[in-house]
Amino acid sequence: MNEANGIFTVEISKTDGTCPVGEKVGSENLGEAKIPVLSCEGACIRGEIARLAAHLVAKAEPYRRGCHGELFTVPGSAIAQWIKNAEKIVLIDGCFLRCHGRVLENLVGKDRLAQFDALSYYMKYTEHFDIDAVPETERKAAARLVADSVLAELRQPSSRGCGRTAAKVCT
Ligand code: SF4
Repeated sequence: MNEANGIFTVEISKTDGTCPVGEKVGSENLGEAKIPVLSCEGACIRGEIARLAAHLVAKAEPYRRGCHGELFTVPGSAIAQWIKNAEKIVLIDGCFLRCHGRVLENLVGKDRLAQFDALSYYMKYTEHFDIDAVPETERKAAARLVADSVLAELRQPSSRGCGRTAAKVCT
């Protein structure tokens, strides 16, 4: 932890590997100027709803699902190049901790990042951790609510996201 600026560093082992389908999709999305959609991918019900919502948003034009793993750890990959060069990046974090928002704002900068806090839209299930603690139909309904809210906000000119409760941390 660097006490001076509140930033800590994670060291990542390099790889010479590539993901063939990731290279194909990343190149296509870069060429077509698609907007990447990422989620925090958290293991709990909040992360799962954010992940499902990101899938739904990425079905709409001009959005496509981005891979945080390649962005963070394979910087030369087509997926990483696509995301780093995108006009805008949509991020749906599972909750107010903004685990990916706090990484991405330092990796790609805040200006191109539209951040959303999924929990701020449905405000339920906070007593649960396990994904299975919430029935699948309810998980999907919450994700649909989040996705529709995110898409509505993205359609507004100069939207930067933030969800209902996270605006103070997105400025
Ligand atoms: S933002 Fe919330 S749900 Fe997502 S990984 Fe962090 S703590 Fe988990």
